[in-house]
Amino acid sequence: MKILHVAAEGLPFIKTGGLADVIQALPKELAKSKNNVSVILPLYLKIAINNHKDFDYVCTFDVKSGIINTSASIFKQVVDNVTFYFIQHQYYFERESLYGYGDDGERFSFFSLAVLNMIRELKLKFDVVNLHDWHTGVIPLINRIYFKDLKLKYVYTIHNLAYQGVFPKELMHSCLSIDDTYYNNGLLKFNDNISFMKAGILCSDKVSTVSPTYANEILTKEFGENLDGVLELRRYDLAGILNGIDYEFYNPKTDPKIALNYGINDSKKGKKENKIALQEMLGLEKNPKVMMVSMITRLTNQKGLELIINKINDLISLNIQVAILGSGDSEYENIFKALEYNNKGKVVFYCGYNEDLAHQIYAGSDLLLMPSLFEPCGLSQMIAMKYGCLPLVRETGGLKDTVIPYNEYVDEGTGFTFTYFNDSDMFNTILYAYNVYYKQNNAYNRMVKRAMKTNYSFKESAKLYVGLYKEVKSKRGLNE
Ligand code: ADP
Repeated sequence: MKILHVAAEGLPFIKTGGLADVIQALPKELAKSKNNVSVILPLYLKIAINNHKDFDYVCTFDVKSGIINTSASIFKQVVDNVTFYFIQHQYYFERESLYGYGDDGERFSFFSLAVLNMIRELKLKFDVVNLHDWHTGVIPLINRIYFKDLKLKYVYTIHNLAYQGVFPKELMHSCLSIDDTYYNNGLLKFNDNISFMKAGILCSDKVSTVSPTYANEILTKEFGENLDGVLELRRYDLAGILNGIDYEFYNPKTDPKIALNYGINDSKKGKKENKIALQEMLGLEKNPKVMMVSMITRLTNQKGLELIINKINDLISLNIQVAILGSGDSEYENIFKALEYNNKGKVVFYCGYNEDLAHQIYAGSDLLLMPSLFEPCGLSQMIAMKYGCLPLVRETGGLKDTVIPYNEYVDEGTGFTFTYFNDSDMFNTILYAYNVYYKQNNAYNRMVKRAMKTNYSFKESAKLYVGLYKEVKSKRGLNE
């Protein structure tokens, strides 16, 4: 099949979160089974600096984005048999960060229009276009209004329903040239604003999200982020397909970013040496026996950080070392900075994004905390398991679907879990993990080996995506 993915970020070029991992792993897996796969991404400043020299120039064309007349240039590069196209617009994309300049609505309106213009300009044909997250949500609607000749069909994948691309209504006139019909008929209207994500859900042929549990959760008031009613309308077109990770990239046996490579058979030695290396890197006492507890995360309320903050004194009183790698809301950044300051030698907070350090933390830690309020899929727990770092998670979304809770009576499980979003339950579970680590170390090590054996590659999930694509291909498209 000819498959196109459109997203706001993707490895091996650019990443701020799990979406980028998926945009690397899924297309690569689909290409392995002889599909013809392309990806379209914005050409951000970092990509321009690091990769531009390897790109081929494709073309330049005009883009009329509402009242703005501008142009886009296209570059491309083939990686792992996947053709990556980049949309270049110096003003919109060549900025230090990817998001958050206050004009994301305008930038991704332009991106959406440029994607459809590019397909028309290059006369590209696709059996299915897989759109990802709010940034691409208006594409099927614009297709329906201005690009019917393209005959495209869409799967819309929700990676996180909490980010919906909600903007003032004026944007639909000024940046998308869409008139009030599509506001009044409800395809874009979201309270008194417009929502890109709502348009994506309603105008795509199928909707998917990134774990079976999250697919059920988002139909409820609790997790539906005020779009549960809209999703209910698409209930029979909604699929929950678990994300996977790229085990060529996340493999402790071959990972060049960690101090010592190791596999299941030499995990004890590998974990020990990597813990010492991590302690050295972070300026902590070098002691392979002490339990290393970590977090690698965006700092937002989704990640359950207040549970950790509420219990911080109890946590600190344990015989552990703590490594936190993350960036995000400044409120959380300041709390974690103070935590490090007040607990020198015990807690290290690295404020920022650091891929190399993330790998070393997975390799050198014993426990990864993910007490999320909600978690559409979560990749960190999958990576942690592969590196023999046991995840401690709340049973929500993809965390529930991937971590098997430890059961000491039958000696099974790949991590520790708790059910309710409650700081005492979380802390009791940490205490449980702590006791198993120190008092039943053999059981802990057996669990490490079980975790390292888990297989959450994209292989099986890619088959489910292909099934969805085939269904879409076989039917008349909503936007035709
Ligand atoms: P989300 O997509 O909500 O951020 P996921 O668990 O799905 O969460 O994916 C997070 C990915 O980003 C993982 O690969 C994780 O290792 C990585 N990551 C998160 N924060 C950082 C950071 N500060 N530095 C390096 N990698 C990070």
